[in-house]
Amino acid sequence: MTGRLAEPLTTTLGKRAAGPLAKMGLETVDDLLRHYPRRYGDPGRLTDMNQLQLGEHVTVMARVARATVRPMRSRGGALLQATVTDGHHELGLTFFAKRAGALRPHEDKLRPGRSGLFTGVVSEYRGTRQLTHPDYILVGVDADDDEEAMVEASRPIPIYPATASVPTWRIQRAVRTVLDPLTEDDVDDPVPDEVRARLGLPTRLDALRAVHVPDSAEHWQRGRRRLRFEEAFVLQSALAERRSRAAAEEATARPPRPAGLLDDFDATLPFTLTDGQRQVGEQVAAELSQGRPMQRLLQGEVGSGKTVVALRAMLQVVDAGGQAALLAPTEVLAAQHARTLRGMLGPLAEGGLLGGAAHGTRVALLTGSLGAVARKEALLQAASGEAGIVVGTHALLGEQVQFADLGLVVVDEQHRFGVEQRDALRAKGRVAPHLLVMTATPIPRTVAMTVFGDLETSTLTELPAGRAGITSHVVPAANPRWNERVWEKVREEVDAGRRAYVVCPRIHPDDDVDVPGTGSGGASARTAEFDDVPEFLDLSDGEGSDRAPLRAVLEVADMLRSMPRLAEIEVGVLHGQLPPAEKDAAMARFASGEAPVLVSTTVVEVGVDVPEATVMVVFDADRFGISQLHQLRGRIGRGGHPGLCLLVSTAQPGTPAAARVEALAATTDGFELATLDLELRSEGDVLGAAQSGRSSSLRLLRVVKDADLIAEARAEASQVVAADPGLSGHPALRDAIAAQLDAEQEEFLERA
Ligand code: ADP
Ligand code: MG
Repeated sequence: MTGRLAEPLTTTLGKRAAGPLAKMGLETVDDLLRHYPRRYGDPGRLTDMNQLQLGEHVTVMARVARATVRPMRSRGGALLQATVTDGHHELGLTFFAKRAGALRPHEDKLRPGRSGLFTGVVSEYRGTRQLTHPDYILVGVDADDDEEAMVEASRPIPIYPATASVPTWRIQRAVRTVLDPLTEDDVDDPVPDEVRARLGLPTRLDALRAVHVPDSAEHWQRGRRRLRFEEAFVLQSALAERRSRAAAEEATARPPRPAGLLDDFDATLPFTLTDGQRQVGEQVAAELSQGRPMQRLLQGEVGSGKTVVALRAMLQVVDAGGQAALLAPTEVLAAQHARTLRGMLGPLAEGGLLGGAAHGTRVALLTGSLGAVARKEALLQAASGEAGIVVGTHALLGEQVQFADLGLVVVDEQHRFGVEQRDALRAKGRVAPHLLVMTATPIPRTVAMTVFGDLETSTLTELPAGRAGITSHVVPAANPRWNERVWEKVREEVDAGRRAYVVCPRIHPDDDVDVPGTGSGGASARTAEFDDVPEFLDLSDGEGSDRAPLRAVLEVADMLRSMPRLAEIEVGVLHGQLPPAEKDAAMARFASGEAPVLVSTTVVEVGVDVPEATVMVVFDADRFGISQLHQLRGRIGRGGHPGLCLLVSTAQPGTPAAARVEALAATTDGFELATLDLELRSEGDVLGAAQSGRSSSLRLLRVVKDADLIAEARAEASQVVAADPGLSGHPALRDAIAAQLDAEQEEFLERA
């Protein structure tokens, strides 16, 4: 940003006017111009002076009769009082200020005899109708004639995000002060002329004028659409550049090695791969064999068998002499992955050990909470190459972690990782490692384009055969008979050798309710260990404050332990405040059946795999989001026995919360639920759930609703970048991309 747009507001507006704006984060002319109106007010028709209703927003045409400034005795400060008239009726205008000097501009303009349009809300003071701080347009001053004054007055009124100290009308004036003198030369346009011409879009300056000083609703709509397009276009150009850079990057080719680990693994696999797993597997195998880095997103329902696909890719890389890193969002999940991989590999994961396979490898686990000795051992295995597979949390991103030859990075459950973290890990290879990102959250196409636009996408659409499926029921919390039946069912399943999850929204009974974004945790914790951040807890349904408090893990565990029906059944507890060793122990005792009932928070949400788990009881199910419940539910029915999910709900029939739980009970189709979820959620949540950054650069663009615009922007951006890969002929676009990356980087650093 250079020239006039980069100018500090202190220069353009003066220190006094700029101060309060700076508190809103608006420092430069550009910042202010990007502070877009939230909505637009109706300018209203001209009101007759004899029909002024108290409290109404009116615009009148009148002439100034008199105006005086005087100090206020009672409160200090000064007061300008003017009277305007249409020849028959009078109306007062009142302006307050801390000092008389601040009223000077009004005093200068509101000279007796001048006429114009006055806009404001009608109030009454000592029996006289008046407007306080009205907007006005004076003929001969703000407009050349009556007609122009009418045009000015009939503009939609921009209403800005404002604060108590900076009301919207003050922002509007500041915007006009900086905007009015700008010319096309001052405003660089990241959207190239040819694209603008092709799509019939206004220039950037025209669009800014349209949104800030619209002539009509159609006008600001056109301007806003153009600015939305610009956001999508800059983003898509950045992604197109990323793609083209990645395509030009070199990677080590890791072709399959006959009679290697992968072949051995396939030979011992206790099931046949689904068609989807085989197809994606072939695609991945081919891409790993090439000398440029694979960049692939693998989507698939919970339980669709993504882990097997990933493991097979990792083995191909190990066979070719490289290492693979598997990045998981939580410690529980990392530990679980390490256990699962070792389990699936058997002797193949005991390379160098007695009884291990001759050409076997090792699976190392590296998390933040390892003891010093274990940590050193894991670091050594990674650095020496002894461990072909290194599993970990974001601790893997740490500077001390080194690999002998990192060939593949697998990121599990991408929605909890930012682009930057992916990059940090990729930077650990000597050349760019191949990348496989896995997510169980179905991502609508345009979100994928926006958030993962630099990745190719594969989807596993079928579940492995032999799944007995999951049935879900809503259990009204207030129905004692149904609640009895819940624990009866748990008892039956445990007696049959199976396990039950019991999920609660919070840990301690006396915790304050964790409202997302407040207190500890909140959205900012997304990049760290998020075990107990109930990101999607929905407390906004407003069904009255007399609802029972949310159930808590510790309270429910006590209740179950003292329940005669569950006598002699060991009840375990798992939540994010436990030390990692205890979390692991709780998970292990649950998996082994020693403690077949596990009361937990949403720690079990992602990826945990205990095939014997058949029942899940979710307390306060109505307070969770659809996607989260769907993910949770995916933890059961993973073996050959049917799963039963019991959603205990306190929602009143007919509320959105009740609708959510019922929808969940009615279908297990993740894509259907994801669509429903999107309809029920706000944009920010959608982005937040799918990724952890980037929102700062999207002010107007709506990822779901602006699908067409995004697709259009993507096509145009690809074309521009293909023709001019370094964007040397498009400096404004290059600058806009750089500014956006800076903003993302900043956000990332703030969170880290
Ligand atoms: P995801 O990671 O997609 O949620 P997983 O890879 O963890 O799913 O697979 C879930 C379960 O299904 C695991 O126990 C896995 O061993 C098993 N599984 C994977 N693929 C198949 C298959 N083709 N046939 C039968 N079971 C499978
Ligand atoms: Mg998984």
